[in-house]
Amino acid sequence: MVGSMIACEECGASGRLGSCTELFGALLALDHERRQPWGRFHGLNVACFQLQHPSATTVSAVGGQWQVVNTFLAGGLTAIQDLQTRWVRSNRRGARPWPAADSVPARSAPPTVTIEDVSVDGTFPASGYEERMHAWAKSVAAERVTA
Ligand SMILES: [Zn+2]
Repeated sequence: MVGSMIACEECGASGRLGSCTELFGALLALDHERRQPWGRFHGLNVACFQLQHPSATTVSAVGGQWQVVNTFLAGGLTAIQDLQTRWVRSNRRGARPWPAADSVPARSAPPTVTIEDVSVDGTFPASGYEERMHAWAKSVAAERVTA
């Protein structure tokens, strides 16, 4: 799965382990096996990846992804679960469950952590995975801080 060493235009990863899309595919495969520590980070993985790769997301999803990242940084995985529970409830009432995309700041700083860093060697080793996910979320938030 070693790619052609083309740097990613969206997040700046070097491409030395394959494209970001290939790495994300490998990570989603781990998530979907529901093995830990990967499985419980699934919602956060998707949010971080798509906020760093806007071409992979939709305008209507960005607000929710931004909220997932900030909720994780404020309260960890438990807070994300609470958030998702609230979304399910408000969806039943027919309300829009997440903030509008225009409440998400534009990217203003380059990533310091990309999916390539989280993957370490392309395999997303379990050791230190939680710390790397935290660093990834922090980078995603710092990229969109309004000056
Ligand atoms: Zn990328």
